[in-house]
Amino acid sequence: AAPPEGGALAGLNEEQRAAVTAAEPAVAVVAGPGTGKTKTLVARVAWLVGQGVKPAQITAVTFTNKAAGEMRERLEALFGKRAVRAMTIGTFHAICLRLLSERGPVSLIGEGEALAAASEVIGALDLRLSARKLVQEVSRRKGGLPADGSVPVEACERYCELLKEAGVRDYDDLLLDAYGLFVHGEATAKERRAFTHLLVDEFQDVSDVQYRLVRAWSGESAGVFVIGDPDQSIYGFRGSDARCFARFAADWPAAKTVVLTRNYRSTPQILRASLPVISKNGGPERTLEAQRPDGGPVRLVTAADEFSEAIFVAKEINRLVGGIDMLDAQGGGGAQPRGFSDFAVLYRTHRQAEALEKCLGIEGIPYLVAGRDKLLSDGLVRGAVGFFRGLCGSADPFSLRACLTESLGCERAAADAFLRTAAGAAADSPVRLLELLPPALAAAEPLVRWAELAEKYLPRARREKPRRLLEGWIEDTGRSSPAMERLLNMAVLHADMPAFLLNLTLGEERDVARSGSRAYLSDAVTLLTLHGAKGLEFPVVFLCGAKRGMLPLDSPGRSNDPAEERRLFYVGMTRAREELVLLCPGEPSPFLADIPADQLARSHATPARRPAPGGVQLSFFQGNF
Ligand code: ATP
Ligand code: MG
Repeated sequence: AAPPEGGALAGLNEEQRAAVTAAEPAVAVVAGPGTGKTKTLVARVAWLVGQGVKPAQITAVTFTNKAAGEMRERLEALFGKRAVRAMTIGTFHAICLRLLSERGPVSLIGEGEALAAASEVIGALDLRLSARKLVQEVSRRKGGLPADGSVPVEACERYCELLKEAGVRDYDDLLLDAYGLFVHGEATAKERRAFTHLLVDEFQDVSDVQYRLVRAWSGESAGVFVIGDPDQSIYGFRGSDARCFARFAADWPAAKTVVLTRNYRSTPQILRASLPVISKNGGPERTLEAQRPDGGPVRLVTAADEFSEAIFVAKEINRLVGGIDMLDAQGGGGAQPRGFSDFAVLYRTHRQAEALEKCLGIEGIPYLVAGRDKLLSDGLVRGAVGFFRGLCGSADPFSLRACLTESLGCERAAADAFLRTAAGAAADSPVRLLELLPPALAAAEPLVRWAELAEKYLPRARREKPRRLLEGWIEDTGRSSPAMERLLNMAVLHADMPAFLLNLTLGEERDVARSGSRAYLSDAVTLLTLHGAKGLEFPVVFLCGAKRGMLPLDSPGRSNDPAEERRLFYVGMTRAREELVLLCPGEPSPFLADIPADQLARSHATPARRPAPGGVQLSFFQGNF
């Protein structure tokens, strides 16, 4: 039973309603941050159902698995679980995985295994090249980006053959293979019907392959609805291209374009500070009319170094949670105590999280850190993940080998011999598999151990909480590492192992957060990169590292696009609802100079004293200058 049309349109402004009810089969909503684009997309889905469209004819593409979950929840509140289950809602990768899985088991390798495969190729061809560089180059080529001449083409080809021989796919193959289904006419009528109404959020960040998927999916479609903001296009380095809006206009000449101008997220102060920054990128004039009441000024806090910056952030969070916000009291804004989850701490690079984590820890502040940051290059993590991936039904030779060699101390030659047998064997249990091996091999202690553990965890892997399973694994193998500890802290945020493993392989930064401790935290500060923060909003945002060399980022061996770096800074600023604090631990970022001076309240944070031996009490001088 669908709610009346008013249900879908409740609480929307006229511009948003125009987008939601547009009769044109192709609609592009192009609008700035906080204008309700995502809200409008969800309302369009609700409105379509209200118009009699069957849930099974609707597909909505989100940028993260988490955003997909949130969209499902909102729609379930309107239409119930059953209707929403019939819809397709997910990231490009998750949707493609589902399409391919319907045709047989899909063995998907993650970053760790991809790097292992690349190392193998590099060794075999005797090249001087980093595995990461090869993996990135293969991805660039698969994504239709121009080739980088410094990586030999044979290496890329050999890598792809290796994956094919092993019967596995990587991240990019998912999209390419699913695309193949649609262009070669292999998709079933039911599958095509699922894309009758296709909606895409964060359209400014689609890659070339994703754009082609949108076109292929909506081939016989009754409607395609894309929304985004070219000023928030921040994934150019991995192949996204904000010109997709121009491409869309060319491919769908009759498309309607809707512009939203009211910003419901941020205070006027935050918008007045942000707009001049993005305007420096040129282009048509941007309009964002603030709908929220005045707040305090945007603050710029300079600090001597990263440590002072981090201590300031931690102290400030505790002060605001304590409810003694002096700025608020002075401005008559009514001081209100905050919860920890009201805060986000943003930074340009994962590396910056380290000092912040330390200082939040000292201050006793609960926090979550988003992202898998090199976790999968740790051998023990790859081994553990490989073990459980095998048990959850998506075994691939790279995972199994990592488990045997990294976690169980198996010799490489024995592991390879085992893998060759396993590949051709039809064994119904790990122990039976062992029996198929030549006796000498079957007696190898690591293989015996693997079979025992596999028998032990097989019945539990899909049922028990990831945290319990991993704790058991660590105890049984007797091996842990700092990275394993971080994996555990990530596991506590997940309810089941298959979903956890999938997020590890396919998730975006937000999908793989870890807790600052081994406990599940429901009220915690979120630490994430500017990239990871896209689409989110928080009452209070600390944007760290607004210093030269960091924003824009100077990275050795890579030329970052200064316009994209500026968009990234803008994305960060516009995540804030009520308070934005910019932190500059060094020489100021050139972007700061583009914020009108009268929009900034400046102050300086100096630890009066380094931590005294045995004590962690620090006090600050904080004043205007
Ligand atoms: P971004 O570009 O950052 O992804 P967005 O355009 O998708 O932002 P939303 O996240 O959909 O914006 O909305 C921003 C905030 O404004 C949300 O808190 C949302 O609930 C609120 N909002 C949007 N439209 C309205 C409205 N018409 N009335 C009240 N609040 C609204
Ligand atoms: Mg959005």
